[in-house]
Amino acid sequence: MINWEELKFDEKGLIPTIVQDYKDNEVLMMAYMNKESLKLTLETGKATYFSRSRQKLWVKGETSGHIQNVKEMFYDCDGDTLLIKVEQVGNVACHTGNRSCFYRKLKEFEKVEKESVVNALYSLLINRKSNPVEGSYTTYLFEQGLDKILKKVGEESAEVIIGAKNEDKAEVIYEMSDLVYHSLVLLAYFDIKPSEVEEELRKREKK
Ligand code: AMP
Ligand code: ZN
Ligand code: ZN
Ligand code: ZN
Repeated sequence: MINWEELKFDEKGLIPTIVQDYKDNEVLMMAYMNKESLKLTLETGKATYFSRSRQKLWVKGETSGHIQNVKEMFYDCDGDTLLIKVEQVGNVACHTGNRSCFYRKLKEFEKVEKESVVNALYSLLINRKSNPVEGSYTTYLFEQGLDKILKKVGEESAEVIIGAKNEDKAEVIYEMSDLVYHSLVLLAYFDIKPSEVEEELRKREKK
């Protein structure tokens, strides 16, 4: 149930809505909702906005076919912004044909050095292994033990195969991420560092 009291619409009756892909959390677009479009979104499950340029309700995808099926909806700490996670039909949210509206990058910030996500995740997994956290899925896996971890690695491999058979790139990315995560849990179980796998791969490179 929505608590309308907690939502703050601006003086024009609008509330900004951030739209993410539910599979990989990519930010796809930002648009405005008003009370009516929010009600319609809740009723139909299809993201419906208020177009400021056209001054009318706008069912995303009504002309392009690139509709958005809403999977989850959040509102922020002070209730002035919505966040929805959607299944983006056609995998294109922007009217330019790009997947995301945020495809233009300021060159000033181009060169950020990111810590490898594999290493960051591995550190977290090792941490969970010695410090169990209630409600943590990783903790649950370690508590269940090796057989459970192996079962998951098997399942996720099968799901990668299914995604690939469907020729669905987004599904392959999603399932491959599940597989990489569970593979890292397996490595953490044996205290094998990702760098040891990297070393093995480098050895092969030289051959
Ligand atoms: P659509 O809702 O995808 O059928 O597109 C209808 C019209 O809405 C387009 O011609 C654009 O003017 C506008 N539009 C669609 N997607 C976006 C977007 N992501 N951001 C801003 N405007 C959009
Ligand atoms: Zn906050
Ligand atoms: Zn806010
Ligand atoms: Zn756009």
